[in-house]
Amino acid sequence: MVAVTFYGGVNEIGGNKILLEDKDTKILLDFGKGFSKRSKYYEEFLRPRSANGLMDFLRMGLIPNIKGIYRSDLLQMAGMKAEEPDIDAAIISHAHADHVGYCSFLHEDIPLYMGHTSHLILQALEERSNRDMEDEILNFKRRPFQRNDQPIHRNIKTFRTGDKLKIGSLEVEPVHVDHSIPGAYGLIVHTSDGAVVYTGDIRLHGSKPEMTRDFVEKAKEVKPIALIIEGTRIKELNDGASESRVKQSCSNIIRNTDKLVIADFSFKDVDRFRTFYTIAKENNRRLVIPLKEAFLLKWLSKDKILQVPTLDDNNIVVHIPKQKSGTYSEQDYGTKEREFLNLPNAWRADKIKDEQGKVICAFNFFSIDELLDIDPEPNSIYIHSASEPYNEEMEIDSQRLQSWIERFNLNLFQSHCSGHAFGDDLFDVVRQINARTVFPVHTEYPASYHIVANDLVIVEEGKRYDLGKMK
Ligand SMILES: [Zn+2]
Ligand SMILES: [Zn+2]
Repeated sequence: MVAVTFYGGVNEIGGNKILLEDKDTKILLDFGKGFSKRSKYYEEFLRPRSANGLMDFLRMGLIPNIKGIYRSDLLQMAGMKAEEPDIDAAIISHAHADHVGYCSFLHEDIPLYMGHTSHLILQALEERSNRDMEDEILNFKRRPFQRNDQPIHRNIKTFRTGDKLKIGSLEVEPVHVDHSIPGAYGLIVHTSDGAVVYTGDIRLHGSKPEMTRDFVEKAKEVKPIALIIEGTRIKELNDGASESRVKQSCSNIIRNTDKLVIADFSFKDVDRFRTFYTIAKENNRRLVIPLKEAFLLKWLSKDKILQVPTLDDNNIVVHIPKQKSGTYSEQDYGTKEREFLNLPNAWRADKIKDEQGKVICAFNFFSIDELLDIDPEPNSIYIHSASEPYNEEMEIDSQRLQSWIERFNLNLFQSHCSGHAFGDDLFDVVRQINARTVFPVHTEYPASYHIVANDLVIVEEGKRYDLGKMK
């Protein structure tokens, strides 16, 4: 018997947690953090208590109560019994937190399969951040822990398009797709009742639509019994937004100014990074990246396919922020950050201030207080170039951003193209793949798929759907 149960991503954007069972084999497709569920109860300064292990997460419905999937230490801290793992693998579609975040809680004997690039991204994120219970994907420390305790490394298996992963009675075929983070995959799972196709997050208006088309083509060939498809932007129609349009419009603004330019975008969106890097180069400016993003550049430039510039590139500058003592002394920085402090292209605010017409600062809202030291000339430019709902990026208070803009007499512009396919593109995907049954996830409007789906299931969270019994 083949069955699928959705424990997250139901009537919400992100937080996908899908259990697929075939006879004795059980796998998870993604195990993400549900930002909308979490922010219903919690915010930056009110967080699920780590001293309770998994208890707060379970009681507030942030994670499902499933036997045999969680870490023993976190169950025990919650006053529950440790369990033997009862899942064969978790397959991660891509490295956004709403798909991978809560793998932090999974039992260490459950192997995590992910794309090669997702692994690089997670290594970079791990290196730059402090240990946090909700962010221990590649390794974790058993709770409660002492400073010198060694982390426990999970069993990570990486894949690329063309690989076939044999897991019990299942065979999983990952196929690349285009999304706002590199290394995203759609998954084709061959079960004993037929193929189940899972899109992960996809788009067709990005810089590599052919990758999504490859996936759709492969999915169509296997005549799937079920299609699990995202629908983040199902209500919007394609109005011609594209990465090249973002480049064109931002280029036009930057070409016409000799003042400071700040570009606010997500670094994991490597297409956007490349867009601003190219604009900087074409306009004889350097792209200034925040110290904490240097980790991403360091790791992603290892993958030549991504064509990400290396840290010693002539057009890249690493910004060293003032910390602790305010004297830029080495002790003010984390041990891992220290490797960047003495790079020849490491600049402090005073140097950026002197060169402000010759740079694009890739700063997001959380670096905006650097303006106090950079002291931009009036009428400098702030380009806001990121706006995904419930992404791993914290939602910013646009009123507060506006106040900073006014305080420093900046000009604010908005230019973006989404990581998610538009309604008309999604309908085309459904029509082409032509699966027997369609299960929308990662959307607030699943019923919109009625227009194109033969048999549409409006998913109920936690309900088990027997795919063999569906018509
Ligand atoms: Zn997502
Ligand atoms: Zn995503």
